[in-house]
Amino acid sequence: MSYLFPPAPQPSVEIKGRAERFPVRRIFCVGRNYAAHAREMGKDPEREAPFFFTKPADAVVPNHATIPYPSRTANLHHEIELVVALHKGGQNIAVADALEHVYGYAVGNDLTRRDLQFEARDKGRPWDTAKAFDRAAPITAIQPAADVGHPGRGRIWLQVNGELRQEGDIADLIWSVPEIVAELSTLFELAPGDLIYTGTPAGVTPLKPGDRVEGGVDGLDTLVTTIGPP
Ligand code: MN
Repeated sequence: MSYLFPPAPQPSVEIKGRAERFPVRRIFCVGRNYAAHAREMGKDPEREAPFFFTKPADAVVPNHATIPYPSRTANLHHEIELVVALHKGGQNIAVADALEHVYGYAVGNDLTRRDLQFEARDKGRPWDTAKAFDRAAPITAIQPAADVGHPGRGRIWLQVNGELRQEGDIADLIWSVPEIVAELSTLFELAPGDLIYTGTPAGVTPLKPGDRVEGGVDGLDTLVTTIGPP
């Protein structure tokens, strides 16, 4: 077997306390999975269920990185999220069995070109340019469930330059982690290496070059990202 040019490197994420890295296969994201964020986006969580979109695996950015302010946007938003890392795949996974598929958890930022997202939404177009751009998925090291358990509640927060912007509790996820895994597995055959960004609480705001963005979930590492010049 030979290739015309070298294949792209395997995207991966650090695993806390281990030499092995977590190879990323796909990145799934849940949209409007906290009622307060759905409302701030102008939607009614009583009438519209959460839904999925994706980012490319190589959008992951390690903790403590500086990323350039993305092109073609004047409204880059942060979305702090609990991230689920799968080590077992499957289809039609039962809610009761879902946590067996979860290797561990991380804290991620679903970076969003909000101007392009609203334009796409208004015109009924896909969200890819708004959500799936280069370096759109900063993430901490993955912490194994064997070490941190399966968090069902705990504060989720984000601050920009020391000022609190987002705050919620992962107990307020509309779809819980087991429900997300079960639902997603009816749409895709899940596989080891899949990451799921589970949705963001209220308080999303614009970022600008020079901003230091810090966020976390109780019991997990703090994600620190600096926004650099374009
Ligand atoms: Mn999100």
